[in-house]
Amino acid sequence: MSKLSPRELAKKNGLDVKEVIKALLSLGLKVAETSKKIDEDTTQMVIELLSKKETTPEPILDIPPTEASKTGIPPSIIKEVKIEKPTPPAKPEAKKETSIITKAPVVTVMGHVDHGKTTLLDTIRKTAVASGEVGGITQKIGAYEVKVKNKSITFIDTPGHEAFTSMRARGAQVTDLVLLVVAADEGIRPQTLEALNHAKAAKVPVMVVVNKIDKPGSDNQKIRQELSSYGLLPDVWGGDTVYVDVSAKVGTNIQELLEMVLTFTEILELKTDLGVPANGVIIESRMDKGRGPLATVILKEGILRIGDYIEADEVVGKTKSLVDSFGKQLKEALPSIPVEISGFEQIPPAGSLMRIITSKEARDKLSDQQKTPIEQTAKPLPSLDELIKRGEQERKTVDIILKTDSVGSMEALSQSILKLSHEGITPMILHQDIGGINSSDVNLAYVSRAVIVGFNVRPDPQANQLIEELNIPIKLYRIIYQALEDIENLLKGAVVKVEVEKVIGKARIQALFKVPKIGIVAGCLVTSGKAVRSSSVRVIRDGVVIREGKIASLRRFKDDAKEVPAGTECGIRLEGYQDFFENDEIEFFIKE
Ligand code: GDP
Repeated sequence: MSKLSPRELAKKNGLDVKEVIKALLSLGLKVAETSKKIDEDTTQMVIELLSKKETTPEPILDIPPTEASKTGIPPSIIKEVKIEKPTPPAKPEAKKETSIITKAPVVTVMGHVDHGKTTLLDTIRKTAVASGEVGGITQKIGAYEVKVKNKSITFIDTPGHEAFTSMRARGAQVTDLVLLVVAADEGIRPQTLEALNHAKAAKVPVMVVVNKIDKPGSDNQKIRQELSSYGLLPDVWGGDTVYVDVSAKVGTNIQELLEMVLTFTEILELKTDLGVPANGVIIESRMDKGRGPLATVILKEGILRIGDYIEADEVVGKTKSLVDSFGKQLKEALPSIPVEISGFEQIPPAGSLMRIITSKEARDKLSDQQKTPIEQTAKPLPSLDELIKRGEQERKTVDIILKTDSVGSMEALSQSILKLSHEGITPMILHQDIGGINSSDVNLAYVSRAVIVGFNVRPDPQANQLIEELNIPIKLYRIIYQALEDIENLLKGAVVKVEVEKVIGKARIQALFKVPKIGIVAGCLVTSGKAVRSSSVRVIRDGVVIREGKIASLRRFKDDAKEVPAGTECGIRLEGYQDFFENDEIEFFIKE
């Protein structure tokens, strides 16, 4: 018998899929695992459990049955846990004096909206590529490294202070220097001061970048005067704040800025110890279809090697691969240099602390986690329908599972959501993460009677199926205030208006064609429903909505088409957008 999904299992044996999931959980599977294919033994156990036969499952493994029953974990999982050889990682040898080294500075860019933070980060990134580093293209991993005069500077690629603040809230600050970007034509704005206050509170030094000096009417001296009254007296005026005037857009003075960052941070004498077990901060995390959970980490101390067991916010892993921001595979990672790690069991939350653990700790944590769902299922699972109905609100909280497209939107939304409340009923975020909505989110929503809130993300096909089957309340938004408004209504017990849009078809991009004078045409295969010329579309990459808009042209071969049915190829252009990738999904929808 081959492996089955919970749905297939239910169908084949005439069972209710909800019951199957409950049974899986009661067998000790983690929520995330209930959406995976279930092996033969577990299938058998589920069937037996649901047909209430009194049987003692025979463990398939060469471990004593007593041990299996002690843990309450199904044999299939024990097998997984057992595979991990007790290798001796985390082996800080006697500390040598040489283990203390100077580390590269980690820089965060902050400032008011539209003052050019993103442009500055992009321009600096391009400088890194232009300076001839390997590969020629930097990877989007949430932070990147720039080489200046053979020394490294790391830039956190999330502009703004949300990420900075949330890391700080978890005691996970990695930033050594804040670049405070101020547009020369606008001067100090509310978020300039907010950013400055965050940096001050975290005791992180600030360097001022006066941006947009190419703009007529920009006054870099006025900026210096204004900021002086906030304690940022320029060094040339006798203070200790360094100012650099740049144009992020034109590229003026960027090299000078980088050199200044180096000089400035050299004075700070940033040190780290390589001789302690590695620890650092997760900057960004996501799910990759092929490589599983990925996390970008910046180590604060120690060396992380392939094979090391790691843990971040209770998510355990074993380092499988380390890739730097140039896309280069590394055998070991050093402090300050951002690396993308694969090998975590689940997606560790961004902003959490990561550390090396021993193989024993990893094993213990894994088996602990597999035990917990048993308690979860011990309580009865009431119907979800009551959740959004007026008058049936005995609950004091409305539980939310929040999935968003970026750290910035996640922090912004979660902070605003947590501020909402109505007559003692408050929202609670059970789980928040970046990336598309997957079946594990749906299962969690089901067992905990939570509402799924997605911001700029969509459910994947399996999740979609489960959402329908389990009747999970889900809300998808692209505008923050709408999300907040709905959640507020939810707290008031009002029935939230269901989004009035209908997905009518989906297509996958198979190839991209560049047509002179017209631009990029996406060669697609319609995979379900139909592509309709007059519908709205979304471009979805790894579950994240990249773009929403209108179709500029829909073609079958050379002819314009009104509709293209499933199983058929077509060419699609969008209005004002052409940054497609192969394998992007295009979703066609209508608003009713
Ligand atoms: P952010 O919100 O701080 O990330 O700002 P962006 O980087 O998105 O920039 C906001 C706008 O300012 C964009 O239209 C940029 O093209 C523009 N901009 C950024 N830097 C410069 C600059 O140095 N000169 C000029 N003229 N425009 C700039």
